[in-house]
Amino acid sequence: MSTLSGTGFSSDLIIIGAGIHGCSAALFSALRGMSVTVIEKDSVARHASGVNAGGVRRLGRHLAELPISVRSMEIWYRIAELVDDDCGFQVSPQIKLALREEQLEQMRRRVAELQALGYDHETMLTPADLLAHIPGVTDRIVGAIGSLHDGFAQPYQTTFAIHRKARSLGVRFYEGLRAESVSRDGVGIWEVKTAQGIFRAPKVLVAAGLWAGAFAESLGEAVPMSDYAPMMMVTTRLRPFCHAVVGAAGVPLSFKQMPNGTVVIGGGRPGLPDPETNRAEATFAPLRLSARTVTSLFPIMAEASIVRAWAGLEGRMADEIPVVGASKRHPGLYYAFGFSAHGFQLGPGTGEIMAELMATGQSPVDLAPLRIDRFGELRQAA
Ligand SMILES: Cc1cc2nc3c(=O)[nH]c(=O)nc-3n(C[C@H](O)[C@H](O)[C@H](O)COP(=O)(O)OP(=O)(O)OC[C@H]3O[C@@H](n4cnc5c(N)ncnc54)[C@H](O)[C@@H]3O)c2cc1C
Repeated sequence: MSTLSGTGFSSDLIIIGAGIHGCSAALFSALRGMSVTVIEKDSVARHASGVNAGGVRRLGRHLAELPISVRSMEIWYRIAELVDDDCGFQVSPQIKLALREEQLEQMRRRVAELQALGYDHETMLTPADLLAHIPGVTDRIVGAIGSLHDGFAQPYQTTFAIHRKARSLGVRFYEGLRAESVSRDGVGIWEVKTAQGIFRAPKVLVAAGLWAGAFAESLGEAVPMSDYAPMMMVTTRLRPFCHAVVGAAGVPLSFKQMPNGTVVIGGGRPGLPDPETNRAEATFAPLRLSARTVTSLFPIMAEASIVRAWAGLEGRMADEIPVVGASKRHPGLYYAFGFSAHGFQLGPGTGEIMAELMATGQSPVDLAPLRIDRFGELRQAA
């Protein structure tokens, strides 16, 4: 496997970015025997991968990312064994509520569509089923769709655990080091320029989150990605009233009650991103709207006080699904970015799939819908 020595600044693979995707691809590549270098401009899990809601959700996934999501879920179930840390992962139902009959009808169509494709993880729930999972929910609910064996995990704990395991297998992480440019030398070896010198490898994976678009553009593969700052809030402790992760059709919301009784609220309403300064600012008016939505669905939430709110930086693709796979222009160049606020669950699966693709040239799942040139083709077709 080794084409470069794995010493000094040379390795088989350079990964740019130590979020969950960079760390996970590093881990699975090391498990395949590759020598791997990860370059991170800040620190491991500093951005979206450390501050997200921790939702481990197959429910409602776009069909294009469902094969990765399902594969990823299999890894989540054995995450403790894989990384020697339980990552705070808990199996828990993911449920989306319907407040109107037409939403319920859409959910029925979704379940039928998935079943026709051979997926059985999503299922319809009656109001009675719902009460069993979330007794405190408003009686305005007409039904729901659920993926009962999804779950949630602790984002920092998970990304650090994957990083630690990768490091124990020999992956070299350089934190506080910015990749300034990516180019190829005369014999086809990739060179990543940094303030500490040039790193070389026959393969490079760009897993730089919100900042990945600039690399793709510099390599002639520009994509429509925008800056996004999803927000979260956490409340004081309440008595246990919900053991599911809950969202609602037509409402930008997700929330869950943690084992310690606090409620973590997120889902959809963004703050202000500023990728130049690494900052994401939480803004109060949209947070207030999210708080109102929660109290309208769960009367008990009127007793809760918000103790903390934050926002994180994320890259959002024009079509809301990520870029995952090989470059269409350059041999040895790969991408995994643009997860559009739902890439945490996909982390382990994407890492495993990318490691296989980079090592063998073959992907175990169909990545065609996530290819980097899909926007160019769409533009031509229009
Ligand atoms: C508030 C919030 C809630 C969310 N909730 C969920 C959820 O419940 N479930 C879910 O599945 N997903 C969720 N997400 C989305 C999920 O967190 C992200 O999709 C995922 O973490 C993206 O991981 P990543 O590794 O691609 O990016 P990141 O975690 O952003 O990592 C990319 C890394 O690349 C580094 N980098 C960038 N440029 C360079 C450079 N030039 N040189 C070196 N390093 C560089 C960055 O510093 C960064 O550390 C949420 C996101 C947020 C912000």
